[in-house]
Amino acid sequence: MIRIDNLVKSFGTFKVLDGLSFDVMPGEKLALIGPSGSGKTTILRILMTLESISDGHIEICGDQLYHMQRNGREVPADEAHLHKMRSHIGMVFQHFNLFPHKSVLENITLAPILTKGTPRAKAEARAMELLEMVGLADKADARPAQLSGGQKQRVAIARALALQPRIMLFDEVTSALDPELVEEVLLVMKRLAAETDMTMLLVTHEMGFAHEFADRVLFFDKGRIVEQGPPEQIFSNPREERTQSFLRKII
Ligand code: ADP
Repeated sequence: MIRIDNLVKSFGTFKVLDGLSFDVMPGEKLALIGPSGSGKTTILRILMTLESISDGHIEICGDQLYHMQRNGREVPADEAHLHKMRSHIGMVFQHFNLFPHKSVLENITLAPILTKGTPRAKAEARAMELLEMVGLADKADARPAQLSGGQKQRVAIARALALQPRIMLFDEVTSALDPELVEEVLLVMKRLAAETDMTMLLVTHEMGFAHEFADRVLFFDKGRIVEQGPPEQIFSNPREERTQSFLRKII
């Protein structure tokens, strides 16, 4: 579903990702863990085309993300190509990023109506199903300011799902929440992971959740994968000293 090959990303002279390669299988649930600043969020932002890349290749659903073929030659992707590729991916951010002046329902229907041309009635029916799924059907007419952080994040999840992406990216989705609101968001994500065959990448500091959610855990440090494996192995029996010391500090 995703193939990352020799990816380099620099901000100025600072190399955040230094020749990173990994593949993600269809339906796989991946947790990206590691110290702050190790490049995890940058990977998600690159997949969402919110950041450019400095070098390397990324394939999504068999197509190049940042390159395309033109007259038999590989050239940088243009905006139309990026737009098409972006439609495969939904992202949920740490700070929700809901439209404050729109109702919950409008937050969810806006993109399907505007970017996919979905008829309003159909978009609204689908949005209500999604709100049902995240337990917020009674909040369809509320504004984001009337919701708790956990509720806002559940709306943000419904909004990303409304575009029916094949890949979902979750970036620290509980770290801006009060502790008592974390559980309701994790529950929704757990259900989603169990009930759909979507490919999911999760950046998190919630190690217990990563353990339950993921098929595979990648431990990053300084823009490289130090160690990867099933959660049982990474959390119970990490091989690398850097993984061990990170987990000692965080758990
Ligand atoms: P993580 O998610 O693992 O905490 P990030 O991907 O957010 O790490 O950041 C990796 C490094 O890249 C950090 O040192 C961060 O300061 C730097 N960085 C991220 N985005 C930018 C940017 N737009 N400009 C400059 N530096 C950035």
